[in-house]
Amino acid sequence: MSTNQNANDLRTRNALSSIKTPVRLGLEVSDLSDMCDLLAHLRLVDSPDFRWNKILPLKVNINTWRIIHKRVPTRSNLDYRWIDLDSVRCPICDDEIESEEHIFVMCNVVREAWKNIMLWWKINNTFVNNLNDAINLEDRVSLPTKLLKVFDVVVQITLWFLWKFRNNVVFSSKRPCEELIFNDIKLYSFVWISNRLKKSSMN
Ligand SMILES: [Zn+2]
Repeated sequence: MSTNQNANDLRTRNALSSIKTPVRLGLEVSDLSDMCDLLAHLRLVDSPDFRWNKILPLKVNINTWRIIHKRVPTRSNLDYRWIDLDSVRCPICDDEIESEEHIFVMCNVVREAWKNIMLWWKINNTFVNNLNDAINLEDRVSLPTKLLKVFDVVVQITLWFLWKFRNNVVFSSKRPCEELIFNDIKLYSFVWISNRLKKSSMN
């Protein structure tokens, strides 16, 4: 067996052990193995519309990338793809159609989260009025250069938790607490930033 084959088998075993729902034998294992092969050749590179933030886990970066490329399964995106839904209205407020613009910026709960972020960072001359404003916030704020990547961590974690909150509203039996969004954003910003700093100080 070649070294490449051994490495592929090891990656597949690692992937299998990290999945919560057991993968069934046969086709699913072979699909997963193919996916691992594809991922092995994946390189994350910056593009004109997106810069990967290495402080953050891949899933948070991917969430932001999906928002930019309209790949988030909001109700309006699903409706656009002819998926039959009971409603296309925002599951949080039920007042407007659930677009990216609405669920990540315009919904009242979400506006409050952005307001708290700006207060926390003492940024009082920059506002989040649309999705572009939110995505490009790192380029629009007046902060020392060394803090910009850290601020981008907070922005991407905010987008991540807003989508998580929305999903909890849709899929949980009990409505999640809106006041906790900002607490979670702060907590996870601290955790991910300090973990990253610890890792880089060990290297
Ligand atoms: Zn809403």
